Amino acid sequence: MAPKILVVEDEPAIHELISLNLEMAGYRVIGADSAEQASTLIQNELPDLALLDWMLPGASGVDLARKLRNETRTKELPIIMLTARGEEEDKLRGLETGADDYITKPFSVRELEARIKAVLRRRAPEMTADPIEYHGLRLDPGTHRVTGHSKGLQMGPTEFRLLHFFLTHLERVYTRTQLLDFVWGDHVFIEERTVDVHIRRLRSALEPSGHDKLVQTVRGSGYRFAKD
Ligand code: CA
Repeated sequence: MAPKILVVEDEPAIHELISLNLEMAGYRVIGADSAEQASTLIQNELPDLALLDWMLPGASGVDLARKLRNETRTKELPIIMLTARGEEEDKLRGLETGADDYITKPFSVRELEARIKAVLRRRAPEMTADPIEYHGLRLDPGTHRVTGHSKGLQMGPTEFRLLHFFLTHLERVYTRTQLLDFVWGDHVFIEERTVDVHIRRLRSALEPSGHDKLVQTVRGSGYRFAKD
């Protein structure tokens, strides 16, 4: 699924320009024109990346970035700040806002896309289209194919996303709630048992090449994709 980007910008012309271009580049876009509206949106659906304008009516983009970093649900959310040249830019450089990057207005669409890709690659590698190979298991997000020791492995879209997430987050243990947040995008309407169902399906999809053993259950905690 294409990454979902939240654009928070109060100037309609800039907002529209950014949204249109991101949509054309294949991203899904949700928009807000204030920090308050953005907070409400985020409660309903967690984006994969947030573009925050510094100067907003009410709470600033910097305030919003700090708030997002302080909340469990959004503390890992990749953030890029949009800022005006000059004083804002200088201040931002010296501030602990928790933003992953910032971009100075005016900027080209190409520059913005490059920054978004770079931040996603660093913070959410499962959102990029780079093929991943690990111990004979190969996943290609571009073609949606998975092979195990060069043999094709069949799996559904959810198992594919789950495997993509695991392959970009080796060894770490994730709870069912975390997996729902990261892989399903929003945990609000889905039961935790759903995760177990898809883990089981993923294991049987990986069985033909023996890679199913890499999907490990950590008792009382959740799941982990093991290194060997
Ligand atoms: Ca503004």
